[in-house]
Amino acid sequence: MDIVYSDRYQVDIGAHVFPMEKYARVRDGLVSRGLIRPGALVEPAPAGWDELALVHTAEYLEKTRCGGFRASELALLELPWSPAVAEGFRLMAGGTIAAARLAVEAGVSPDRAAAGRSGGERRLAAAVNVGGGFHHAFPSHGEGFCLYNDVAVAIRVLLRDGIITRAAVVDVDVHQGNGTAFVFDRDPAVFTFSIHQEHNYPHVKPRGSLDVGLPDGTDDREYLRALERSLPAVMASRPDLIVYVAGADPFIEDQLGGLSLTHEGLRGRDFLVLSTARDAGVPVAIVFAGGYARRVEDTTAIHIATVEEAVRLGA
Ligand SMILES: [Zn+2]
Repeated sequence: MDIVYSDRYQVDIGAHVFPMEKYARVRDGLVSRGLIRPGALVEPAPAGWDELALVHTAEYLEKTRCGGFRASELALLELPWSPAVAEGFRLMAGGTIAAARLAVEAGVSPDRAAAGRSGGERRLAAAVNVGGGFHHAFPSHGEGFCLYNDVAVAIRVLLRDGIITRAAVVDVDVHQGNGTAFVFDRDPAVFTFSIHQEHNYPHVKPRGSLDVGLPDGTDDREYLRALERSLPAVMASRPDLIVYVAGADPFIEDQLGGLSLTHEGLRGRDFLVLSTARDAGVPVAIVFAGGYARRVEDTTAIHIATVEEAVRLGA
C-alpha cells in the first residue's frame, strides 16, 4: 500500500493541543512494525493554488498565502499563521490528493484484477496520507485547526480530472465534518457521512448526506452498531472512491472528545469501514484528522492500527 508522508508536515504551531509530532511518530511506528520499508514512502507535492481554488475562495487563499488574518479569524482557526504553517498545510493537502489518486490506481492495478478473475480473495485497494483530514475548513474561512479542506480539495481534483465521477466521505472523527458537509451541500456527486459526538464542536452542524450524532459516552458496542447501520446508505451512493477521515479522537481518553471507544473498538471501526469498501470493490484514501489523547502514544497507536487494518485486508 502506498503511504504518503513528508517530514515537512510537522510545522511549528507553538504550544498546542494538536500534536504535530504524531506524524513522525506514526511514520516511525509503521517502519518498526514492518508495515513500510524506510524509503518506500511517497513524498507529496504541495496542492496547487488552482487545486485549492476548486474549494476555497480567491480572497481566502490570498490571506492564507500572505497573511492578513484578523485576530477574530485566527481565534476561529485556532492556529497561528506563518508562511511555514501555510506551506505545511498546503503540503498535507497535496498528500491527500496523492493518496486519493494512488488509491484509485491501486483499484485498477493488473494484479488485483488478476486476483479477482482467478476467484482469489478480494483485496482492499487503499492508500494513506499520514496527515490531512482537515474537515472543518470552509470555502472562505478556516476553523478548528483546519486551514485547507484537503478532503474536499482531493475529491474535487479527481472529479475535475475525470478519475472518478462519484465519491463518498466516511468521517469518523469525533467532531462533525462541518466544512466538508457545507462544501458538498446539494452536490449529487459526493455523499458526505459523518458519525460524531452530537454535543461537541462544531455547535452549528451543516447537514451532510447522512449525519449520526451520538450521545456522550457512547461505548464500543453502541458505536459499532450505529456505524454498521449507516454504511449501507453510504455504499448505496455507489462511490468510485471513499475518503476515510479516520480521526483518533473518539477514544475514551481524548481531551477534546466525549465518546468512550477503546483501542479495540477503534480497530473494529476501521475494520468495519475498510472491509465494507473491500467487499464493494471501492478504493479508499485514508487520512488521519484529529487525535488529542492525554498520552500522544495512544493517538499514534490508533492511527497505526488503522493502517494495520488496511494492510490486513490486502491493501
Ligand atoms: Zn476531531
